[in-house]
Amino acid sequence: MYLPKIREIKEALTSFFSPPYTTQFPARPYTAPPEYRGKPKYFKEYCIGCGTCAQVCPATAITITDDKQKKIRTLTVDYCSCINCGQCEEKCITQKGIKLSNQYSLFVTTTKSPEVFESVEKESVYCEICGGFIACRDHLIWVKDRLGAKAFSHPNFLLELQKEFSGIEESTIKSRIRREDYLKQVCPKCRHLVVVADEF
Ligand code: SF4
Ligand code: SF4
Repeated sequence: MYLPKIREIKEALTSFFSPPYTTQFPARPYTAPPEYRGKPKYFKEYCIGCGTCAQVCPATAITITDDKQKKIRTLTVDYCSCINCGQCEEKCITQKGIKLSNQYSLFVTTTKSPEVFESVEKESVYCEICGGFIACRDHLIWVKDRLGAKAFSHPNFLLELQKEFSGIEESTIKSRIRREDYLKQVCPKCRHLVVVADEF
């Protein structure tokens, strides 16, 4: 006959007199620990709209939509595609723009339910020559602040600094590139053309 060992008897008695390890969810609400990797949440005040989170997401669960008319960039997490890997949080360049919450309970009847999505909207800056997307305004300000005085050498950052003190009216697109275009919000490609046009 097989006789239980002392260790097994001790474990059985300990388990019998200890509270259960499992939770009673959903009969009783349960709060997951802070390190739990649940639904990602954006923090608008810290997100600068750089799009790094969308680039690193292995499940392509984050989409970027740029509205040129409204000058708004929208980043959206589709929680149905999210695999809770935490790459977006880890690689966020401000380290605070997106965090995985401890929300684990999400009951929906369709994958299109609004609860499934998490979005943030950021004001965007477009090139005053070609109309192409340059960056989100907060991204330019973030880079400007990190560069310090060196930022004054780049017109895009200089203009963002000036906007903090007074409004600047956007110029209208002209038929050809001129030297005056240097002091405008211009994308790298058009800035190259402005410099080349000025040189030759
Ligand atoms: S946790 Fe992973 S899968 Fe989910 S949105 Fe972030 S990077 Fe994508
Ligand atoms: S700041 Fe962070 S959360 Fe915002 S777009 Fe960039 S990587 Fe994503």
